[in-house]
Amino acid sequence: MFYVVGGIFLALLRLMVVPLVLVSLVCGVNAMGDLKTFGRVGAKTVGLFLATTAAAVTVGLSMGLVVSPGAGFELEGDFAEVVPREMPPLADTFINIFPENLVQAMAEGQMLQIIVFALLFGFAANLAGERANSVIRIFRDLNEVILKMVMLIIALAPIGLFALLARTFATQGLELLIPLAGYFLLLAGTLLLYLLVAYPLVLRAFGLNALQFLARMRAPMTFAFSTASSAATIPVTLNALPSRLGVPNSIASFTVPLGATINMDGTAIMQGSATGCIANVYGVDLGFADFLLIILLSTLASIGTAAVPSAGLITLTMVLTQVGVPVEGIALIFGIDRLLDMMRTAVNVTGDGVTACVVAHSEGILESGTADSPIVSAARGSGAGMAQPESESGP
Ligand code: ASP
Repeated sequence: MFYVVGGIFLALLRLMVVPLVLVSLVCGVNAMGDLKTFGRVGAKTVGLFLATTAAAVTVGLSMGLVVSPGAGFELEGDFAEVVPREMPPLADTFINIFPENLVQAMAEGQMLQIIVFALLFGFAANLAGERANSVIRIFRDLNEVILKMVMLIIALAPIGLFALLARTFATQGLELLIPLAGYFLLLAGTLLLYLLVAYPLVLRAFGLNALQFLARMRAPMTFAFSTASSAATIPVTLNALPSRLGVPNSIASFTVPLGATINMDGTAIMQGSATGCIANVYGVDLGFADFLLIILLSTLASIGTAAVPSAGLITLTMVLTQVGVPVEGIALIFGIDRLLDMMRTAVNVTGDGVTACVVAHSEGILESGTADSPIVSAARGSGAGMAQPESESGP
């Protein structure tokens, strides 16, 4: 029963991802207007994504090495079962961002390819000017319909989320946790620390109210936790950012799908901690150069991680291989990864929300009037580029 209801709910969420991203991003690019604005917003977004991810690996790795919960691990398990496929080479990963067939990209849910197509389409429509008006109008109307569909599906959340969680815990016994409690607690604690301390500090630095932010990100966080998939959560985040946090669609439609695909702070924390712990188990000494290499590799690996359950473990193989830590170590943490995956996915999605709010705010277009207590702190003079909150154009 839980299996069927949870499965249907997840399928409906996933169903919405591709049409929603395609249509809302075309509308978003159109609303953003010129290439210059897009370039500035894009640079800020990607810059923040990278900075928060690199910081996340650093925190995860430091905690993994310092707390060193790896000590009493038992080395067991069949590694061949654990890592079913290899990481593709980096060059191919880059080439694969560019689609050669839109239908295939959509059928396979290749998010970056869809983003590239939508950006090109949106810009081309802007360049075509008046003649593209009717096409853009169709996209806007479609956007309305798709958003309504998303809201209908979200209305099923109480039943859907309950079924998903029940299904997960019915198949993932908690007894697996006990031998690995140290690693589990360390990683869960670090994820929580990032969520409750690091993000609020970033938000505060930009003059935003962290408590309000966290309260209003509740729905995306809950969905991310229950589905363990940033991709399946895209519809919910895209709905929450404009309606609950005042991020205009022009920013949300770009930052959310891109963030869900490349910005994974929670995954980066896991990869840092796991590398530190596994290195300890196998007695591999990591020097300062390795430390820097792990930060770089985990940042890249988290970018390359697919936004689906357990994908972070696959890209972890790349990090371990490159720094000479035995890849077999993944077998140790595989058994308890599901619950940690749920937690890190919630952090991943929250990180996208932080970036979207900060970028919108720095552009002076974070709406402050969406609810009684806005996330824009009143009468604050600090923060980057805090111009007129209500204005539609950038400073
Ligand atoms: N499940 C994560 C996500 O969808 C990826 C991971 O395995 O770390 O964001």
